Order: sequence, then C-alpha cells, then structure tokens
Amino acid sequence: MVKQVAIIGGGIVGATAAFYLSFLQGNENIHVTLFDEGTGQATKAAAGIISPWLSKRRNKRWYALAKRGAELYPTLVHDAQLSTQAYQQTGTIVTRKNHDDLLALYHEAKIKEQHTSAMGQVELLSAEAVKRRLPLLTDAPEGIFVSGGARIDGGHFVSELLKRASDNNLLIKHERVSLTQNGDLHTSEGQKHFDTVIIATGAWMHESLQPLGLNVKVRPQKGQLIDLTVKMPHKWQNMPVMMPEGSSDIIPFNGGKLVIGATHENDEGFDLSPQPAAKQQLLDNASVFINTLTAAQVSDMRVGTRAYTEDFAPFFGAVPAQPNYLIGGGLGSSGLTPGPMIGYFLAQAVFGREITHWQDYTLPVSQYVD
Ligand SMILES: Cc1cc2nc3c(=O)[nH]c(=O)nc-3n(C[C@H](O)[C@H](O)[C@H](O)COP(=O)(O)OP(=O)(O)OC[C@H]3O[C@@H](n4cnc5c(N)ncnc54)[C@H](O)[C@@H]3O)c2cc1C
Repeated sequence: MVKQVAIIGGGIVGATAAFYLSFLQGNENIHVTLFDEGTGQATKAAAGIISPWLSKRRNKRWYALAKRGAELYPTLVHDAQLSTQAYQQTGTIVTRKNHDDLLALYHEAKIKEQHTSAMGQVELLSAEAVKRRLPLLTDAPEGIFVSGGARIDGGHFVSELLKRASDNNLLIKHERVSLTQNGDLHTSEGQKHFDTVIIATGAWMHESLQPLGLNVKVRPQKGQLIDLTVKMPHKWQNMPVMMPEGSSDIIPFNGGKLVIGATHENDEGFDLSPQPAAKQQLLDNASVFINTLTAAQVSDMRVGTRAYTEDFAPFFGAVPAQPNYLIGGGLGSSGLTPGPMIGYFLAQAVFGREITHWQDYTLPVSQYVD
C-alpha cells in the first residue's frame, strides 16, 4: 500500500527530506505532499556559507552534525543534479583580528585537516595572497583558506531540490496548513489524513505543534542581509567567501552579485521589515575591506527568521509518544550546514530505518518539547 506523507515547511530541512523521499530505495511506495507558505523562510534569506570546521562553537554534537552536513553537500548536489547557481565549492577565508590568534587557529585547522577530508586543503595566506584570491578587496587582511568551504543560494537550492522530487513522487502546495487536535491537517481543500507528517517549520515550530498540546522551545531571531550589484571583471570567477572575525561575511557570486550579511536581532519576533540602520551597518562593515561600495549598489535586502533553542543546537526525531510525527528544527544561524543531514535522517525514519548514532548529533527531542 502506498504511504501518504505530508511535509510542512519547504526550507532546507523540508526540501531535503522531500528529495530523499523521492530518491532513496522504497520511494515507489510513498507519496509526498509538501505544504510551504514561504513567508520569512530562513533558507531563502540566508547568506549561504557552508564551512563549519573553524567555528568558535564548542558544542560537540552540533559540530558532528554540521561536519556531516558539509560532507553530504557534494553528494546531494550530484544526486539531485543541482546547478552551480545553487551550490559552488569556492573555498572560504577565515580571518582573525590578532595575528597570534590567526596562527593558533591555523595550527588547529592543520590538525583537523588530517582527518577531515571534506575540508580540502588548509593554507595560511598573507594579505597579498588573500587579495589575489579576492581581487574585489581594496584592504585585504591575512587569513586562512579552507578549500572545501562552499556557498549556496538557499532559494535556488531548495527550488531545484523540490523540482527533482516533483518529477517523481512529490506534490507541492504553496499554502499555510495547521494540525488538528487529532493530528490531521487543515488544508485549503479540507481536512486530510496522512500516515506520517514531517514538521519542518523552522521558527514557526512552536505554533505548528500547539494543536497536539505540545510546547516546542524555539524562539525567533530576525536576520537581515544585503545583495549588491558590483562590477566584476569576467576573470573574477569562483571567488571564495570571506568570514572576517566579528564582522559581516562577504559572499561574492559569479556575474556581479555580492552578498553581505547578516544581522542577528533577538527582540523583534517575526518582524520582516528591512531596517535602513541595518543596511548601513552591513555596508560599513564590508567597506572596511572594500572601500568602493556605495548604497546605490544595494539591489535587495533580504530578511528571514531563524529558529533558536536554549542550547543553540538543532534537534530532530519523532515527537515523544507519537512516532508518526517527525520534527527537525532549531537550526539557528548556521543551519544550512546541518540542514540536509537532518532532512536525510527524517526521510530514513519515514522508510522505517533506524537512525544510527543519532545521540552523537542531538539530544533527545524531549529536551526541546514539553
Ligand atoms: C539572514 C540569514 C543568514 C543566514 N546565513 C546562513 C549561512 O550563511 N550559513 C548557514 O549555514 N546558515 C545560515 N542561516 C541559517 C539558516 O538559513 C537556517 O538555520 C535554515 O535555513 C533553517 O531551515 P529550516 O528548514 O529549519 O527553516 P526555514 O528555512 O525557515 O523553512 C521553514 C518553512 O516553513 C514554512 N512554514 C512555517 N509554518 C508553516 C505552515 N503552518 N504551513 C506551511 N508552511 C509553513 C515557512 O514559511 C518556511 O518556508 C542564515 C539565516 C538567516 C535568516
């Protein structure tokens, strides 16, 4: 019998789960409907940096999950035949304000490099060498180059994934849905029952699970970034992402798009209005390294809502005592990195396959859901 699966939320978690449900063995026995309203989606507002290895975070489970996420990207991109517009491995350059801190980080990175093949090569670069890799910088700092780092265009990434899945067993509905008290879905076509429901609603997870009497401990955080159109000579292709310490990231895309981001506002709830002060701050931050930028080059300002948990770590698995409701959320400010791994694990759970060693990656869901 064909199993009817619903996914609520079409960000990185929901879209990857949908892709794997269409791709992994057993997909012929599954039909998937994905409901995504889309407003405030963090995935399409994101800067898109995939480079977890030199993060200052010390949460071991987060790092194990993010590391596997970064490793999964090239395979996922290959399996789903995604374009270079969606994903590109350009490398990342990480900086430190203090030279000794940079050297210490470099030594740490060289040790990690030996047993982390997805990092690729690690190199210590002088300011001149950084400028050669990122010719658009006018004032380049010294830095550490990690060749395995990548950037994604979140909006493109999920729409290409969903397109692949909809060529197979996925139906997409662009609408807001809600659970009923008995666990069915309220949709625009009436109340519907599904055998399994994946809830991947990001910052809206608390609201999504309230009808089941559950309190999910996630809070919203506003994030803003700016897109600029910059004149880039044709030979400036595949420039790495720059991640300056304590400042905004600089993400160059081929063809003249430059992304600067992002802000982190904890006290603005689900507000999605772009703020002129944030725009100016992002421009000022980037101008330290590119002194030719002007406000007239800003072509767009994107705003999204991230989901945070108390321990800043994501969670995934079945809702306690309700195995047909699977959740994945709380991804925070670097959630694109572990996101595909969570989507993959949730798809495996739908196929009834055990998620081995999940304790290495997350605390039990009951820590995040009352
Ligand atoms: C400005 C910014 C910059 C970022 N930069 C990076 C970065 O460089 N690298 C990185 O790794 N991470 C980054 N992140 C974080 C990352 O984007 C998020 O952690 C991740 O995308 C969250 O994915 P998600 O699938 O959990 O949620 P989302 O992407 O938010 O998707 C949830 C979806 O569910 C939908 N939804 C909610 N409720 C319902 C409902 N009832 N019915 C139907 N649909 C519903 C929403 O509309 C939304 O489309 C950034 C985030 C922001 C905001």
